[in-house]
Amino acid sequence: MHAKTPFGAWETYIHADSGKFLKKKDLNRRATGTGNVFSPNPLESQGSATGFSDNNDADSAALNNQLKSVSLLGLDGSGYLKDAYVNIYSRAKTYSATHTFNFTRSQDSFEDVMAYYHIDTLQRYIQSLGFTNINNRSITANVNTYKKDNSFYSPSTKELTFGSGGVDDAEDAGIIAHEYGHSIQDNQLPNFGNSAESGAMGEGFGDFLGATYEDATSSTSFGTGCIGEWDATSYSSSNPPCLRRLDNNKVYPRDWVGEVHADGEIWSQGLYDMYKAFGRDVATKIILQSHWSLTPDATFNDGARAIKQADLLLYGGSHGDQIDSIWAARGISTQ
Ligand SMILES: [Zn+2]
Repeated sequence: MHAKTPFGAWETYIHADSGKFLKKKDLNRRATGTGNVFSPNPLESQGSATGFSDNNDADSAALNNQLKSVSLLGLDGSGYLKDAYVNIYSRAKTYSATHTFNFTRSQDSFEDVMAYYHIDTLQRYIQSLGFTNINNRSITANVNTYKKDNSFYSPSTKELTFGSGGVDDAEDAGIIAHEYGHSIQDNQLPNFGNSAESGAMGEGFGDFLGATYEDATSSTSFGTGCIGEWDATSYSSSNPPCLRRLDNNKVYPRDWVGEVHADGEIWSQGLYDMYKAFGRDVATKIILQSHWSLTPDATFNDGARAIKQADLLLYGGSHGDQIDSIWAARGISTQ
């Protein structure tokens, strides 16, 4: 979840079963559609925060200027926003017989296209790294079905929900990616997040996934080290507005406060520093690989050790010295 305030219940992972999935059926029809999105969000693509406000979900020339036309890959041919990696369930019930999905942000269907495009792109990215067994399923995303300014992944239903309070959460790819991060971790490691430190690692990983996705899709460097700039215009007065940052230099245990999102900034910075040192692909591969070595109540120390092990497995330990120093700077040993 991405709220500033803790909602403890959503951090308690409850599993109805072992999370086994039916093998997905081969679909004999595939369609490529087109649609408008923010990528990753209007502030990052413009390169400044100037001229944007939610204004109760209204369109504006400045916001329309940040729309990008993208291809929507893998559509199942039904006319709905559905494919092997994501299934949109929404208030708008968006449909197009010609797979043409050009909306503006005042229309609820715009958020449906956002969730479809960015989740689909993230899963394709994970597969491009060589992982075909990480959350490789058609995840249901409930869009605009929840009125609060919050979004969440539910480990019991295995679904994502994006709220419409403030800036609609699914108008910001950083928020979409953060929530998808929770579903990735739950898929790799059911029940993860049982302890305070594993909960913080879950939030930190979501922020890492969101911030690196924002960086990779933005044409500007505005908002580097910050996640959710557009969403945060509803509640942040900083420039850039940030849901959270990945460069606050928080150190464990000195800066630990006992709130998963705030404490997640300790963890996310270590991950983000790996991204800055090794590049997105290498860092993401090592980090995803490391999840398989963790237990549901893992500590920061366990997490850093697992990262070092994953580098050994994938790259013969060639990033080991840098991994040691990156985590030492956060107060976390890799030993
Ligand atoms: Zn979260």
